[in-house]
Amino acid sequence: MDTAQPRDPRPRAAVVVTGSELLTGTIADANGPWLARALTGLSLQVDRIQVVGDRPDDLVDALAAAAGCALVITSGGLGPTADDLTVDCVARFAGVPVELDPATYDQVGRIVAEWARLRGNAPAGPLDPALEAGVRKQAMVPVGATVLDPVGTAPGLVLRRPGGPLIVVLPGPPGELQGMWPAVLAAPPVRALLAAVPAAAARSLRFFGLSEPVLAQTLRELDVPGSLEVTTCLRHSELEVDIRPEPGAEAAAAALADTLAARHGEQLISADGTGTDELLARALLDRDWFVATAESCTGGLVVARLVDRAGSSAYVAGGTVAYSNQAKESQLDVPAETLAAHGAVSPQVARALADGARARFGADIGIGITGVAGPDGGTAAKPVGYVCFCVTTGDGVVLARDPVLRGDRAQIRARATDLAMHLLLQVARG
Ligand code: ATP
Repeated sequence: MDTAQPRDPRPRAAVVVTGSELLTGTIADANGPWLARALTGLSLQVDRIQVVGDRPDDLVDALAAAAGCALVITSGGLGPTADDLTVDCVARFAGVPVELDPATYDQVGRIVAEWARLRGNAPAGPLDPALEAGVRKQAMVPVGATVLDPVGTAPGLVLRRPGGPLIVVLPGPPGELQGMWPAVLAAPPVRALLAAVPAAAARSLRFFGLSEPVLAQTLRELDVPGSLEVTTCLRHSELEVDIRPEPGAEAAAAALADTLAARHGEQLISADGTGTDELLARALLDRDWFVATAESCTGGLVVARLVDRAGSSAYVAGGTVAYSNQAKESQLDVPAETLAAHGAVSPQVARALADGARARFGADIGIGITGVAGPDGGTAAKPVGYVCFCVTTGDGVVLARDPVLRGDRAQIRARATDLAMHLLLQVARG
């Protein structure tokens, strides 16, 4: 991520993610990025994402470091065990005591009793003392906090540090955290904060095949005014360019977006931030087309991307992974003579794969992908990274490419998948 102009008028937010298992690398943080996207979508500026272990002083230090933000969100450490310390630390930071909340005690008690009954280890009647202690711990609430209903067993909290940020306390399991998000947005203190956030009026452009240095050169030539913040991010081989204006500079943002779209029109995918996968889905739906894939070196990554989107059954017919020559022949009708004459990695075989996928699945558009992912198997004529793509349609359109992609095996397969999605988009858009 490259930031060209470090100015931003939006209120700042911080995310503090807790869990020692995140610091040992046992699990990767899913909550920080998810919350950052959600907050950015609400026109807040995410100032920091901090990951801390299950040590109370570290958590309080992290909260103190975010004291200048309008909003601080924590994730994790709300469980019933002694190392779940977030509520105590947040109360310390807010300068309020914690006390047992009877309604929360009853609610968590009912959830835990039901959970114990389902596991078959609890007789009817009062809770086992160990479980009751856990329920009591999870029902301790900082004075003045709003309690958010549990999605698992842990309730969330919203409270304010007097004269400081609004603090939202969420559970660690990503499903629970995301499940609680609607309740966060509906909580009156959060609604009041969001109502005061000015609309972003940001512009977002997406390019495929445009490099960051070339874009940077364009931005230098255009002498972007200081009232605009321009950030760029390369993801799925797409360059995402966000333009954020200071209040009053909205017209300048729109003008810059239009200029960039015109200068790099050949590589522009969308002028509203929509990415390739969504655009492809829309194009296929618009044409009432079904797509089929025949993949060798990408091993199913393309069809996985296609079905990632909910509702994909309306436009994905299916996909075949045909790795061996025999599979290419028997599953996709690639002629043995084509394989023998040109080799498995060749434009001719990519074409036969695309046609075979279309025919076998009864689809309107097909793609064939065959390449040398490496690290072995490259030759002078067909080096590691050489990948042949072909998209064909029932009405006779053929789009073929055979670039040499850079990177190690994983990167070559990922880049091949990105390019396959892009080529499908080009053809589906007509
Ligand atoms: P609960 O009591 O429901 O478990 P909790 O708030 O105490 O909630 P944690 O104990 O911090 O949650 O984490 C429970 C589990 O949730 C972790 O072991 C991990 O599997 C998952 N988890 C927690 N935080 C994250 C995170 N930031 N990213 C991905 N997974 C996480």
